Amino acid sequence: MSAEMKFHCPTKILSGPDCVKKNAAEFKKFGTRALVVTGSSSAKLNGSLDDSMAALSLNEQEAVLFEGVPANPGPECVYAGAARAKQEGCDFVLAIGGGSAIDAAKLIAMLAVSNIPEEDLMAGQTGGSCLPLVCVPTTAGTGSESTQYSILTNHESETKTGIASPLLFPRLALLDSKYLESAPRTVLAHTAVDSMSHSIEGLISARASDATDALASKGLRLISECIDGLIRGKLSSVQRDRLMTASTLGGMVIANTGTTALHAMGYSLTYYHGIDHGRANGILLPSWLDAVAKTKPELTYKVLEALRMRGTAELRQTLKEILGPSPVPEGFDPEKYAAKAMASKNIANCAAKPTLSEVIETFKTSFDEGNAAQESGRPAANGNSAPLASILPAETVRLIPYRFRDVPKGPTEVPLEIRLSENFKPGIPLPRAWDGRVFGYVRDNDELKKLFSGKMAEGYAHRRIYLNDMEENFRLTLESGSGEHESIFAVASSDVRTLLRNCRVQGEPQDLIE
Ligand code: NAP
Ligand code: FE
Repeated sequence: MSAEMKFHCPTKILSGPDCVKKNAAEFKKFGTRALVVTGSSSAKLNGSLDDSMAALSLNEQEAVLFEGVPANPGPECVYAGAARAKQEGCDFVLAIGGGSAIDAAKLIAMLAVSNIPEEDLMAGQTGGSCLPLVCVPTTAGTGSESTQYSILTNHESETKTGIASPLLFPRLALLDSKYLESAPRTVLAHTAVDSMSHSIEGLISARASDATDALASKGLRLISECIDGLIRGKLSSVQRDRLMTASTLGGMVIANTGTTALHAMGYSLTYYHGIDHGRANGILLPSWLDAVAKTKPELTYKVLEALRMRGTAELRQTLKEILGPSPVPEGFDPEKYAAKAMASKNIANCAAKPTLSEVIETFKTSFDEGNAAQESGRPAANGNSAPLASILPAETVRLIPYRFRDVPKGPTEVPLEIRLSENFKPGIPLPRAWDGRVFGYVRDNDELKKLFSGKMAEGYAHRRIYLNDMEENFRLTLESGSGEHESIFAVASSDVRTLLRNCRVQGEPQDLIE
């Protein structure tokens, strides 16, 4: 991270119970006649429309309703809204709803006072002025209330296009988590995962700063405290508050870091398969973090640390529980979607720049069938690796991290690919010399002691790699010959079993045998 820092978020944010009515005076200054932009029906049902109307009438401000913004709005919707605002002489815009209503309202506010042909708008051109915009979010996910982006469905290029301008920052955002009470489980889950992805992408962005890291880490912490509620589909009011706050923090993060390849990948799942935005991101997240870990494991560790998770396997499992099954959609075309993602501006924001094949691999390993293939022993990503049994004498086991040369100083997570020889028996000696390879032992765990005898474990204490039993988890420590490089990370017992099932060896086989 460079010492230079740029951080910008001019939106005034007020939150708390009944904050729309309590702070009505705050938006008195924006105008006399509001275009009130909403989705289909939720704003009526969750009370946000009533509260907003009451606040407007308290201020003696008039309201013109523009309802029915669809999920993932396109240009037709924002041009229609702008025409309505002009026709009705509205001088400010009040957006109530999820990211779709807010994003539409942003461009309605701009197009109401700027003449931008559709082609130019979809190419990213924005106007020089914009009506003031007030936002009342009713989902806790997009953070659109604190960003300068509006994301439109782009029929021409068959994806979603982000349109950005500092003028699109709302002037005021009013957050009241009571509006989430009526949200269906899937809306809560999908939007929370969108918010999670914003903070995660902020942490792994090439544009990350200390400010965005602080906000993103806090956002992820808050979300991690809601995971049980998201899985059960039942959130406490404290958890709803946390998700609302996390969403806005996530917005402030991506307002400054942008989103990365993950969002660009997710857009194809939404465009071609109608998968909700947040859900699309969540399906791809674990495999994407695995891909990031190949070149920058410290970034993936940063994310896992903020989530208080032990590895991407735990994240994958958690997201499965939150999102439910994700079968491969019909007509799924990973190569096409990967090419689109690689051509997007988001790639420039990636601190770990992906290759086309990594993006394809991310798509392929993200859906349920892909996960299953992975768990049952996927082929090694590195062409130099070979199954242990084919190159090592029987009864030998090696634990070799994927790209161990890249193990950095300090804590990190290193994905391991391990295949245990069919002939492996407990108690076999491990090599003593070390030339950059990683060896292993386990202690204090009955199940693993069957594989690694206690005596052997003692003999290899504080050597290259060791797994410490920590009740349900294991602490895996890698240590270099000189002791300069020590990396500690936690793995779940299920991960250990996976490690043992999938061991592969990398490097020169003869170097590995003492
Ligand atoms: P959404 O598309 O705004 O809403 C999804 C559904 O949830 C709609 O059916 C909506 O119903 C309903 N809903 C909203 N609030 C509800 C509540 N409190 N109770 C019950 N139902 C409720 O979903 P979203 O995930 O918030 O927004 C997604 C959009 O935001 C995508 O277009 C995405 O690309 C964009 N996005 C923007 C940014 C940004 O920075 N600008 C960032 C990320 C994503 P109604 O139609 O009846 O309201
Ligand atoms: Fe998003």
